[in-house]
Amino acid sequence: MAETIKVAVRVRPLIQRELDAGATIVVAIHNNAVTVDHGPQRRTFGFDHAYWSVDAKDAGYASQEHVNNDIGKPCLENMLKGYNFCVFAYGQTGAGKTHTLSASSSKGDKQMGLIPFVLEGLFTHHRAKFKNDELRIWISFMEIYNEQIRDLLNPGRDAPDLKVRDHPEFGAYVPGLTEAPCSEIADVKKLMDFGTKKRVTAATNMNAGSSRSHAVFTIRAQRLTGTKPGKKDRKSLSSRVNLVDLAGSERIAKSGADGLRLREGCAINQSLTALGLVIKQLAEIQRDGGKKGAGRRKSTVDEQTKAIPFRASKLTFLLRESLAGNSKTFMVGAISPASCSADETVSTLRFASSVK
Ligand code: ADP
Ligand code: MG
Repeated sequence: MAETIKVAVRVRPLIQRELDAGATIVVAIHNNAVTVDHGPQRRTFGFDHAYWSVDAKDAGYASQEHVNNDIGKPCLENMLKGYNFCVFAYGQTGAGKTHTLSASSSKGDKQMGLIPFVLEGLFTHHRAKFKNDELRIWISFMEIYNEQIRDLLNPGRDAPDLKVRDHPEFGAYVPGLTEAPCSEIADVKKLMDFGTKKRVTAATNMNAGSSRSHAVFTIRAQRLTGTKPGKKDRKSLSSRVNLVDLAGSERIAKSGADGLRLREGCAINQSLTALGLVIKQLAEIQRDGGKKGAGRRKSTVDEQTKAIPFRASKLTFLLRESLAGNSKTFMVGAISPASCSADETVSTLRFASSVK
């Protein structure tokens, strides 16, 4: 069973649109506590990490590199030990989710997001460190829009809606989803670009926004340790990492929303709520398990996770094994510091602290 989930909050700098609108900064960080102070609203929430991004001189400033060290390094280490890992980026559209997960590595080592950081790490550092190891890597990239799954790596223009199936041994999986083998970072860059373009095009064709779908990037790694193929000390360690760029958490105003917007809004709210509940209940089980000591039998844990409503959304059903197995989970709440976003910011902080 995983240790309790870790939660980080990241504040991005004010953007031009906010500056033009005369927005002021209403968010402050002190150690790992985040305070929003705006009008009648003054709330403070505590987290495992709180990152400020405006200026290197500010207290709590965190570069992309800093975030990668806190989240990406443990992710890499876990993968190489054969444990799963999940990272979720939650927050309103424009708050910095994609920047945190996917910022391109072409901007240089210090600027890249978590996904390129983890993959670069797998390809370079650990290959150098474990010279006798064989490391195999596959990636898949899908989006969930309105509870429908789309394969972002399928070159076919109109991939059919994919289903989630339950395998008696391996758990939830998506038959037909592309799993692309990757042997160098250039492969990954091509696939990431391809998938991201496809996500945007599909959203445009449907007259939707790509911010209204969840994007799930999965890295599957198999590490064959030991000296030589066929030797007795050869061991196989498998792990799966999911990096999930969640749909924008902003509430869609009911008035004026047409049928499609309303359906989208409901699907997003429902799946984000389901995710929050699932993570919270898993954290509770882990805490109870921890309290009762190491004597706990695995079957008891399985019994308890049975009651967790994984099937309430495609996202939670799909990630069931990743979340409930030998996995570690990081939730990153992305927020804007601006006065005009204070309500959404408080709602993100409330969600992020509720999963602890
Ligand atoms: P989201 O994916 O949550 O909709 P984005 O990641 O696209 O938001 O971020 C919106 C804008 O803000 C982008 O232009 C992005 O480069 C910028 N941005 C986000 N987070 C940061 C940060 N921590 N530091 C600097 N710029 C950021
Ligand atoms: Mg985004």
